[in-house]
Amino acid sequence: MLEGNAAHYLNNVLRLKPGAHVLLFNGRDGEWSAEISGSSRKTCDFILKTQTRPQEPRQSLTLAFAPLKKTAMHFLVEKATELGVGTLCPVITERTETNRINLDRMQAQAQEAAEQCERLTVPGVETAQPLDEFVKAWPETDPLWMGDETGGGENLINALQAHSTGMTPTARHGFLIGPEGGFTANELASLDALHFVNRVDLGPRILRAETAALAALTCWQALLGDWQRLNQ
Ligand code: SAM
Repeated sequence: MLEGNAAHYLNNVLRLKPGAHVLLFNGRDGEWSAEISGSSRKTCDFILKTQTRPQEPRQSLTLAFAPLKKTAMHFLVEKATELGVGTLCPVITERTETNRINLDRMQAQAQEAAEQCERLTVPGVETAQPLDEFVKAWPETDPLWMGDETGGGENLINALQAHSTGMTPTARHGFLIGPEGGFTANELASLDALHFVNRVDLGPRILRAETAALAALTCWQALLGDWQRLNQ
C-alpha cells in the first residue's frame, strides 16, 4: 500500500483509477509492474505483477557541499541525483552563506529526480553538519576529492585514473565542494592534513559550486562509474 505524497500523486494528480498499470520501486527489490487494485483519499493499493528490472546496487558516491541558496540547491540536488550520487551531505563551512536547510524539501527533490531518471534508488540526504565533523566521520580508507579552485589541486581526471587501479566496484568515493566564497585558509590547512583528502582541479575557470559539483560527478561517472556499462 502506498500512502502520503506518492498516493496523493497517483490518486489526485495523475488521477489513476483501479485497473491502471504502474511501475513501482522501493530501493531494495528492483522495479515491479503493478496494477492499482483500490484507493482511498490517502492511500493506494496494488497487485504486484512481475519484476521488470533487478535492483541496482546503491551508489557509493557521496557529494558533500556547502549549502546553497534555494534555486541553486534544488538544481544541485536534482542534477546530482540524475548523475547517480548515492548520498548528499550538506556541510557547514566558515563561509557558508545559508544555514537554513530544508532537508525534507531536498529529500523530496531527490525522490522526484530519481523517479524522473528511472534510477531504482533515491539518494539519501544527510543532516547538515560542520565541515570538521564531516571529515572526522569520513572513513580513512575512502578517497575524498576536494574541489580546489586556486589551482593547487591535481587534474581530476588524472587523479581518478591513478586511483582507479585496484579499486573495488563498491569502493566509496566522496566529493567535497566549497561555498561561494571558497574554503578558508584554515579549512584548507586542516583538509590538507588528512591523508584521504585530495585536492583536485576542475580547470582554469572558477566554477560556481553547483557547476563544480556536477562537473566532478560527471568525470567520476565517465571514468569509474556506471557509464562504462553503456559502452559494453
Ligand atoms: N569565489 C568564487 C565564487 O564565489 O564563485 C569561487 C568559489 S567556488 C564557487 C565554490 C567551490 O567550487 C570551491 O570551493 C571549489 O570546491 C569548487 N570549484 C570551483 N571552481 C573550481 C575549479 N576550477 N577547480 C576545482 N574546484 C572548483
